[in-house]
Amino acid sequence: MPEEIAHIIKDWFRISKRTLPWRHHPDPYAIWVSEVMLQQTQVAVVIPYFLRWMKQFPTIRDLAKAPLDEVIKHWEGLGYYSRARHLHLGAQYVLEEWGGRLPEDVAALKKIKGLGPYTIGAILSFAFHQKIPAVDGNVIRILTRYFCIEENISETKTKKMIWDLAEKLLPEEEPWIFNEALIELGATVCQKKPRCLVCPLQKTCRAHNEGKALKLPQKPAKVKIEKIYRAVAVIECENFFLVRKCQEGEIMKDLHEFPYFSTESERFSEEEVIKTVGDRWKLSLELIQHLPETSHSFTRFRVHLKPYFFRAGKIAPVEKFQWVSRDNLSSLAFSSGHRRILTNILLNI
Ligand code: SF4
Repeated sequence: MPEEIAHIIKDWFRISKRTLPWRHHPDPYAIWVSEVMLQQTQVAVVIPYFLRWMKQFPTIRDLAKAPLDEVIKHWEGLGYYSRARHLHLGAQYVLEEWGGRLPEDVAALKKIKGLGPYTIGAILSFAFHQKIPAVDGNVIRILTRYFCIEENISETKTKKMIWDLAEKLLPEEEPWIFNEALIELGATVCQKKPRCLVCPLQKTCRAHNEGKALKLPQKPAKVKIEKIYRAVAVIECENFFLVRKCQEGEIMKDLHEFPYFSTESERFSEEEVIKTVGDRWKLSLELIQHLPETSHSFTRFRVHLKPYFFRAGKIAPVEKFQWVSRDNLSSLAFSSGHRRILTNILLNI
C-alpha cells in the first residue's frame, strides 16, 4: 500500500508540478530561505521576494554579514518579521560554527534559530536527499483526509500519528521527490476546498469516499479577530517627515511607522485628532488634508488606519522620533499599513 501511494503521487508530480524558482536550486541555503519564506505565505507572494533575496544575499556569508536593517528591508511586506531576524541570526551562527555550510543532521540543524521540525525535514530531504519526512500543513491535510483521521490536529498525539504515517509512506527510492510531490498535491489539489475530481488518490481516499473531505482536518476553534482603530499623523516640514523605528518588545520591532494613536472606535472627530496630535508630539501643526484610509493585519488583529497630513512650523526634536528626508523614506522598512500610507504620499503629495 505505501509503495503504491508513493508511485501514484510521484507519477502525478512528474507531470503536474509547477515551475518554482527554488525547485532547481542546488543550494541548501536557497532551500532554507524558500522554506522559511513559504511559512504562512502563498507561493505567488514568495516568488519575487525569493528572487530579490537571492540576488542581494546569494550566500549564507552574504546574509550573515549584512546589516539587520537591510535584511528587514528585503523582507518588508512579507510579515512575521521574526522569520527574517531568525534567518539572519541563523546565517551568522552557521558561518561561525560551520564555515557557512548547513550541517546535514537533525541535531545540528535544531541548534539554528527558527528551524522547526518541518523546515529541518525539508532541508534534509530536498537539499541532502535523506529519507526523512517533511510534514507541513499540506501534508497534514492530505494524510488526515486520505486516512480519515478525525482527531484534532493541534493535539500532540495526532501530530505524532501523522508524522509517523508520513515516515512509513516514504519510499526507498527518491524519498525527497515523494515529499515534494505530497506537498505539491496538498497545495494544488487537496486544498482547503479539495479538488477530488482531479486527484490521483481519489479512488482510495477514505475521506472522499465517506463524504468527509470538507470536514477534515479537524482544527481547534478559530481565534476571534480583534479590530483596532488608529489615527495616523503624517507630519512634514521642509520635505522631512517624522517617523519612528519600533523597538524591542514591540510587535513591529525594526520597522518604521508614522506617529499614531489608538481610538475607541472608527468614529472620531477631526478636532480630536488635531488636539491629540498637537498635545502628544508638542509641535505647532497645521492640518493640510485627510489621506486615504488603509488597514493591515497581524496575528489576531485587524488594524484600521485613518491618516492625516500635517505640516509642522519647524523641525523640532521629538523624543524617540527622527526627521527623515523625503528622498530617504523609501530606503527604510515600514510596517505594511504605514508603507501603504507612505506610497500614497510619495505618489500624490
Ligand atoms: Fe484530498 Fe480529495 Fe484527493 Fe482525498 S481525493 S486526497 S480529499 S483531493
